[in-house]
Formats: sequence, C-alpha cells, structure tokens
Amino acid sequence: MRLMFVGPPGAGKGTQAVRIAAKYNIPHISTGDMLREEIKGGTELGKQAKSYIDAGELVPDEVIIEMVKERISKPDATSGFLLDGFPRTRQQAEALGTFAVLDAVININVPDDKLIHRICGRRICADCGATYHESMLEDPKRCPKCGGSLYVRDDDKVEIVKQRLSVYKKKTQPLIEYYTDLSILHDVVGSGGIDDITDTITDVLEQK
Ligand code: AMP
Repeated sequence: MRLMFVGPPGAGKGTQAVRIAAKYNIPHISTGDMLREEIKGGTELGKQAKSYIDAGELVPDEVIIEMVKERISKPDATSGFLLDGFPRTRQQAEALGTFAVLDAVININVPDDKLIHRICGRRICADCGATYHESMLEDPKRCPKCGGSLYVRDDDKVEIVKQRLSVYKKKTQPLIEYYTDLSILHDVVGSGGIDDITDTITDVLEQK
C-alpha cells in the first residue's frame, strides 16, 4: 500500500502515520523527521535545511525530492510506504508521480484554533521520539514512557507556527484538489480521540 497523509501542521499526521504504518507493516517516511536527523548529524543537507525550517518556510523542492526518491528506492519500501509531510508543493507532487504511484491520500482536517493549541503545547522525547501535549503530562520535562527529557521543537513557537500555517494554505492546500482530481483523496476529521481517528483511517483504507 502506497499512502500519503496531508494536513496542516498539528493535524496529527505524525501520530496517525506511526500507527497506520505499523498496522500495514510499511515504513513511515516523514520528511520532517529525516531533515531533523540531518540537522542532528550536522550534514551539509541539514545545515542547508535548518534556516528554512527555523523560519517556518519550506526547504527547496529539489533537495526534498531527491531525498524522498532515494528513501523510496530502499528495499523496505518496495511493497509500500506511508509518506508524511511529502509532497508539500505541486512541484513535489508532480515529481513523486514520476517515480511512485499512490493508492490513497488521507487528508486530515482540524480547525485552525485547535492546531495552534496543539502545536504550541507539543513536547517531544529526546530519547524515544514520543510526542505529548503538555496538558497530558504530570512532569512537563520527563517522558512518561522512557524517562527521557522532553523538548519543544524550535519551529513550534507561536509566531513560526503561524507562518507554517500560512505556508500550508498557500503551497500545500492546493494538493487537495490535485489528488481529488486523481480520485484518491479521502477526507478524515482529525479533531476526535486518537484511537477513533486511527479507526476511521483504517475503515477508509479497508473500503478502498
Ligand atoms: P514537519 O515535521 O513535517 O512539520 O516538517 C518540519 C519542517 O521541515 C517544515 O516546516 C519544512 O520546513 C520542512 N519540510 C518537511 N517536509 C518538507 C517538504 N516536503 N518540503 C519542504 N520542506 C519540508
């Protein structure tokens, strides 16, 4: 199964992608995670990407397209994959179409005010990568799963979040029409409970 999740920052794409990828035994390919790994590793690509990410802007298409093309060509992705955060522009979508055919695109919808609340309260474990909302945490600094320390992403600060939302509307939202025209887009409401949303996405995929 070749899947793609689209939706604004904070829609819960990452959370749902981890669950759905595990369910269908396909790799979860998150371009945001890949770029953050590059930054952590101090690579050339990471250095190039950091200034865009910190400003809430998109990393140039050529860089991202090459990165995804290479990742998709790895053996674990031959029978399927779940793309999370790619494509984000029309140019990326058209490039993807030249090296992979998607079976379904899941569009996760959440109202803007909820998105800002979700992202600005997001805490991530530096050790295991688990994501929480601060309101769920007894200790705001420790991961309840593994005890690792929790951090806030640099680009999860409110003014950068607003910029990311504006970039999403301008550059990524038009892909909804693009994939609707290809008859592979499925809308899912992303503002309920995490388990319910996973069930809804699974139902959509099973009915295809
Ligand atoms: P995410 O973790 O998906 O929210 O991505 C974090 C940041 O990485 C984005 O705000 C962009 O700066 C960059 N990024 C991730 N995926 C892409 C992409 N497909 N195209 C351009 N930039 C991206």
